[in-house]
Amino acid sequence: MNTATPADAHGSVAPLHFVDPRRFKENAREAVNDAHLRASFRSAMDFLQAKRASHFGEAQTFEPVRQVGESIRRHSLSRLPELLEMLERNLLARGVQVHWASTPEEANAIFLAIARDAGAKGMIKGKSMVSEEIELNHRMAEQGVDCLESDMGEYIVQLAGERPSHIIMPAIHKTKQQIAQLFAERIPDTPYTDDVDALIAIGRRVLRNEFRDAKIGVSGVNFMVAETGTLCLVENEGNGRMCTTVPDVHIAITGIEKVVERFEHVLPLFNLLTRSATGQAVTTYFNVISGPRREGELDGPRAVHLVLLDNGRTQAWRDPDFRSTLQCIRCGACMNHCPVYARIGGLAYGTTYPGPIGAIISPHLLGLEPTQALPTASTLCGACGEVCPVAIPIPDLLMKLRHAATHDPLPGHAPLAGQGAARSWKEALAWKAWAWVNQRPAWYALAVRIGRALRGLTPTRQGGWTAHRTPMKLARSGLRERLPKGVRRG
Ligand code: SF4
Repeated sequence: MNTATPADAHGSVAPLHFVDPRRFKENAREAVNDAHLRASFRSAMDFLQAKRASHFGEAQTFEPVRQVGESIRRHSLSRLPELLEMLERNLLARGVQVHWASTPEEANAIFLAIARDAGAKGMIKGKSMVSEEIELNHRMAEQGVDCLESDMGEYIVQLAGERPSHIIMPAIHKTKQQIAQLFAERIPDTPYTDDVDALIAIGRRVLRNEFRDAKIGVSGVNFMVAETGTLCLVENEGNGRMCTTVPDVHIAITGIEKVVERFEHVLPLFNLLTRSATGQAVTTYFNVISGPRREGELDGPRAVHLVLLDNGRTQAWRDPDFRSTLQCIRCGACMNHCPVYARIGGLAYGTTYPGPIGAIISPHLLGLEPTQALPTASTLCGACGEVCPVAIPIPDLLMKLRHAATHDPLPGHAPLAGQGAARSWKEALAWKAWAWVNQRPAWYALAVRIGRALRGLTPTRQGGWTAHRTPMKLARSGLRERLPKGVRRG
């Protein structure tokens, strides 16, 4: 990659801005009021749902393959430490350098050290949500290393100075007119056109030049095979293959949970991933990476590094209540079927992973304090759990996280980071009083009589409840009084 500034080389890349998940409720309110955003997400989600349904419309077709996917993921997680050790041994034998990172800071330090070693001032990147998780672009830019996204959707959001709003389709929130405007403004000598093919050709032209000069290519990983020491990468644009083969150094980054034991475990998961994500039977590219270029080979990187990130995953793995979170294969189907995500889009969440998967994984990555509102952003309709190709019980996990945000750990469980962060002593006291009264019929009857007598004093404004609903008021008479005498008991 050349060392010119982003503006000189591939269009003016605005600085990234990060949205705080603590602002989730305000962001969601703004997003709900944006009719244009709602319409784009609704139609995009309808499209993706129909694509998935063309493969998995019938439960009879879906359930058997999903059971296989679930059992592979559960098996892999049950042996996670052992498989990771096996993976490391086999990767080292193939000449891949393996790095372990507990935190985003450690992962970024590894990237920076490799870039310094290679004398690289820049990196070209394929799509990787884990690199978003560690804010790689931003952190490298602070150290004078320029990262350029080469996945078309990622390139668009990078040019716009935004974050991906969907884990599979990062720029799904943008219309073709917005992208046309962006290209015309940020890429030198680019006239406005909203012809999609022309826009793709413009992006390709810019990126192709960058591949030629890049010293370091970065990619994510979809599956790691412990037994063979192999990294698998699924993609449609071919940029992943370019990133992993053209530059002299390839750095792959992924979470520790992506390991499976045997190569034969990959195919069922690949099958579930592509059909659930984009409704494709297969993707255009399936890359199998088995180490650096060998003696006598004409192409491929001279060095391959794998960065394995924990960043809170061990916390989820350790707790039997939350381990299933790590079964995720990042297909995005839960987001596509979530009524909340479809209305507010991905950016409102303020986290790397939005939607239902974001609501269950982010509390482990970031702690429950900043993310406490996310598990509450669900109607618990169950659609996410029904479509998940590896049968993660997402609604159950949401309920458990809600509980963890307001309670101490259950006996035998270690506290989650930020456990109890949403606890309110007023609410706890109110529920204690409620329970006490409800267990004592005489007190209950007295409380109801007093409540009815004071009914007229019920406040008309009741916080968030009355923002969209009529005030709660005690009924004039209860069900028991309304029942015919002979039916009443007690
Ligand atoms: S939780 Fe399930 S549906 Fe959602 S992204 Fe992960 S694998 Fe896909």
